[in-house]
Amino acid sequence: MPLLEVRKITKLFGSFAACSEIDISIAPGEIHALLGENGAGKSTLVKMLFGVLAPTSGQILWQRQPVQIGSPGEARKTGIGMVFQHFSLFEALTVAENIALSLDRNVPLAKIADEAATLSKAYGLPLDPYAHVADLSVGERQRIEIVRTLLQNPKLIILDEPTSVLTPQEADKLFETLEKLKAEGRSVLYISHRLEEVQRICDRATVLRHGKVTGACDPRKETPASLARMMVGNDVAAV
Ligand code: ADP
Ligand code: MG
Repeated sequence: MPLLEVRKITKLFGSFAACSEIDISIAPGEIHALLGENGAGKSTLVKMLFGVLAPTSGQILWQRQPVQIGSPGEARKTGIGMVFQHFSLFEALTVAENIALSLDRNVPLAKIADEAATLSKAYGLPLDPYAHVADLSVGERQRIEIVRTLLQNPKLIILDEPTSVLTPQEADKLFETLEKLKAEGRSVLYISHRLEEVQRICDRATVLRHGKVTGACDPRKETPASLARMMVGNDVAAV
């Protein structure tokens, strides 16, 4: 049974279709790539799944049941977590204080710091909960976003272009974390425009171009050229 199914979802901005009748199906324990060039509609699609944008039309099914995801809070309650491309952290606050602000429940700060430290260690994303965000690297800031997402115990974790801000070493660490999430039976929706990453870590890929699905495949069974063709169109990639 798929964990998440999206049927013919469309998002119009005025008369412009950022996403047009997109179908996607994500199985439990799957790392699923959303692959496409800049402007393909990837971020718009996942913002609809996380309740940031309302779909113009289409349906979302969670474990076969139709669901309305009207806000990020509702997405989290459903079991969906998201790590955005652009972080929303308060520089002057500590890691634990930032995490506390994002929780839907009231928990003493010391307990949050404990939980964050334990979780970050378990997932190979070391973090000092008492460090100030201003003193942290971009990679460390992303870890805060990931840890606070994992604290909500999501069944599906969406990551929007996570490696765009990471060094190759940090990206390798992140891929280990994703493998661990997968081994736990969680699903990952991994947004990227980098073919080599998608072929390395993803079990399935849905390719978007100009807001439409141009392919759904096992990326390891494709060549870089065939994936590129789905991303940019036959004519261009043939050059
Ligand atoms: P991607 O994440 O694949 O780079 P986006 O989903 O961010 O693409 O954007 C898809 C298209 O929709 C782009 O042409 C973008 O300019 C447009 N778009 C995104 N958000 C808005 C918005 N709020 N209003 C108008 N157009 C938008
Ligand atoms: Mg984007």
